[in-house]
Amino acid sequence: MTHAPQQRRVAVVTGGRRGIGRSICYHLAEAGFDLLINDILTDAALDETLAGVRSRGATAQVFSGSVADVSLHKRLADTAYDHFGRLDVLVNNAGIQVRNRGDLLDVTTEHFDEILNTNLRGTFFLTQHIAGRMLSDGQPTEGRSIIVISSSNAIMVSTEKGEYCISKSGLSMTAKLFSVRLAEAGIGVFEIRPGLIRTDMTAAVREQYGALIEEGISPIRRWGEPADVGRTVKTLVSGDIPFATGISINIDGGLMVPRL
Ligand code: NDP
Repeated sequence: MTHAPQQRRVAVVTGGRRGIGRSICYHLAEAGFDLLINDILTDAALDETLAGVRSRGATAQVFSGSVADVSLHKRLADTAYDHFGRLDVLVNNAGIQVRNRGDLLDVTTEHFDEILNTNLRGTFFLTQHIAGRMLSDGQPTEGRSIIVISSSNAIMVSTEKGEYCISKSGLSMTAKLFSVRLAEAGIGVFEIRPGLIRTDMTAAVREQYGALIEEGISPIRRWGEPADVGRTVKTLVSGDIPFATGISINIDGGLMVPRL
């Protein structure tokens, strides 16, 4: 049953169970959003995120399933509308890293497809579906937003994870494309490019990248934290950055500043 739209704004966060996604959920809850949290697994980590969201005064609903499964996207959106009656923000955070870093010459078609299907194809079609629902739900579209979490690797080459770089570079264009398509409706589309962020995803390279950080690979010599990205999302959806859409924000300690 579809509810009448509630007062509190509603955000969908993909991959919201842990890491950067969890922090995004917390920051949106603090900003007064209720949440539809999507992830693949339901486990103790998800329970922790749900408890954290609720302790911040927000209501949360879970939608389990992979963003790579395009056949689920309608059901995901339906869940938000059925439960909350509205959908104001989509944060495309779900993403996977290469399983084994290795030579570009050894990338297999299977692994290329797996990374592209999740990071790029899934995100493109989820954005397409949610954008269509936002435009057709009969509620004011002005002030809504869609955020794409890409990576410094949208720009920066890492040959040992080429398929990941390609997926993130495609996401960068995805954000720009939708920003133009949705500008007239007042739906802002923004890309956030995190640098080296301390999460499970970077656990395998904690030592290797930690040494690079100490040597100054980023002018701000520390690991990024999930909250650095969460706060950025909170700022973007607040509407406090006026007259902007299609922008890309590097949350990376200056990693992407060219230096001599
Ligand atoms: P984590 O691996 O720590 O968390 C990602 C979450 O997304 C996990 O809960 C994961 O579930 C979930 N997820 C993965 N695939 C899917 C899917 N197909 N559908 C739904 N949920 C999924 O990663 P981070 O928090 O570090 O990264 C979040 C985003 O930020 C990613 O897009 C990543 O590429 C990007 N990023 C991260 C950086 C970093 O340094 N950490 C740097 C730049 C970008 P499961 O546990 O089942 O895999």
